[in-house]
Amino acid sequence: MNVVKQDSLNICIGIAKILYRLNPSNGMPIKNNSIVAFTTKGRLCNNSSMSNDAHYHNTTPHRICVRQKFLQERHGQTCEYQFGHVVRGTFTDLFGNFAIIELICHETAHHRTKGHGKIWYAKYNKQMTQMALLIISGDLYKQETWQ
Ligand SMILES: [Zn+2]
Ligand SMILES: [Zn+2]
Repeated sequence: MNVVKQDSLNICIGIAKILYRLNPSNGMPIKNNSIVAFTTKGRLCNNSSMSNDAHYHNTTPHRICVRQKFLQERHGQTCEYQFGHVVRGTFTDLFGNFAIIELICHETAHHRTKGHGKIWYAKYNKQMTQMALLIISGDLYKQETWQ
């Protein structure tokens, strides 16, 4: 894996650890192999295709697989959900750290929560708010936030 992808993966893991520290009761516990780059040859993932930028494994060991193209480009899309379904015409492009943050908030909110219903959305929204506050305060860019 090249330097850019590895760096993206490290940011994903760092963000996920921050989120777990902020949400110890219902967050997703993160080890260094909890978030991996998706590969079709991987024995750890039985999803043969990757239709989204990432997916969460609700079987143990819980894991998030991230598409290599996403790790390379740091370009993702977010959308709105209503009654658990995607709202048409609400897709928005995200780039850089914002794309990574949104992706990790989305996937970790699937921990013990299937689909995109009310409970998932509440967790996702809470995590997005927590990350926004870290950005606004400047704390996201402090070394101690990542430890
Ligand atoms: Zn997978
Ligand atoms: Zn989802």
